[in-house]
Amino acid sequence: MSKKVRHLLGISGGKDSTALAIYLRNNYPEIDIEYYFCDTGKELNETYTLINELEIFLGKKIKLLRAADKSNEEPFDHFLKVYGGYLPSSQARWCTKNLKLEPFEKFAGKDLVISYVAIRGDEDREGYVSTKSNIQTVFPFRKNIWSIEILNAVFGNGNISKVAKLYKAFACKTINKRAIEIIFTPTSDNLFFSQKLNALLDLSVKTFNKVVFEFLKDSDYPIANLTGFPLIENEEIIVMEDVKKLFKENGVTFPRYYNEIEYEVEVQKGKYARSRSGCYFCFYQQKIEWIWLFEQHPNLFEKAMEYEKDGFTWNENESLKDIIKPERINQIKKDHLEKSKKTSVKSNKLVDILNDDSGMSCVNCFI
Ligand code: SF4
Repeated sequence: MSKKVRHLLGISGGKDSTALAIYLRNNYPEIDIEYYFCDTGKELNETYTLINELEIFLGKKIKLLRAADKSNEEPFDHFLKVYGGYLPSSQARWCTKNLKLEPFEKFAGKDLVISYVAIRGDEDREGYVSTKSNIQTVFPFRKNIWSIEILNAVFGNGNISKVAKLYKAFACKTINKRAIEIIFTPTSDNLFFSQKLNALLDLSVKTFNKVVFEFLKDSDYPIANLTGFPLIENEEIIVMEDVKKLFKENGVTFPRYYNEIEYEVEVQKGKYARSRSGCYFCFYQQKIEWIWLFEQHPNLFEKAMEYEKDGFTWNENESLKDIIKPERINQIKKDHLEKSKKTSVKSNKLVDILNDDSGMSCVNCFI
């Protein structure tokens, strides 16, 4: 007998997860989605405003998940003490684990869960996939909605005949003929997925999704318990421009911290903004974002500075006290301006301008 499956969507306070909530609400109202937000207690006010506005739009509560909910301290401060004042960093990201992942997995419990993650179609990164076998991740904004471990199974050598049979059952003659050629064509290890996956998706997204859905029916994945899954019919790919449109067309305010603000450095003008949601002191921030925080939210910058003690700093080799020395601010702005000019030659897409060149990001906090 089929077991109940829960549908969960985490709102980070960023543009993409909010856009996904809007998109699914508009296009798939039949999916009974539970929304949640993992609150670190250190988010920007704009994030809490967005959560409130989104609740009104969705007509549903967004469940607030707070780690260490018995503590009388904010979740982040509670764990900072547990870690002996050791500030989190990209090498020691205890914050994501304790403040985002664990509350989510506790919320999911042992239930079968489909988790919806807003990696856009114009992004080249894998989203977070839970290691818990009762939680399955799907990516509705991408051309390929399935997670990597499912693709591994579908394209596994031992499953070629099964996938071929499913194509025979569900594809029209023309698609089936070409699909069989693709499935049985040997590929190199490196290009295994990109070759076969893209070729099959280019043939027909809907057929590929139908085949995967049927393929999973014999598996332990949560989706195997569903009689149907409307997203397998979806061929839309959502990119940055669509995300902005979703906000505009549905009357939801685009998070204000993305709004570019002009700055001046040595008679030249540049623009800065925050590029992501998450804690105001997040160590993933670019230097220019720290300056943005200093100039636009001086009280929060002050608070971030208070965390820097006993030799711990948010940035490697540079304290916040040093970052805001006038000559350093100038240098950071000049560097940023130079970089923006180069970026705008390559592309004028907001995604490119705002993305950190470090390539680091935390999908659980920022999407
Ligand atoms: S936003 Fe940054 S500091 Fe906050 S939990 Fe995420 S990674 Fe950690």
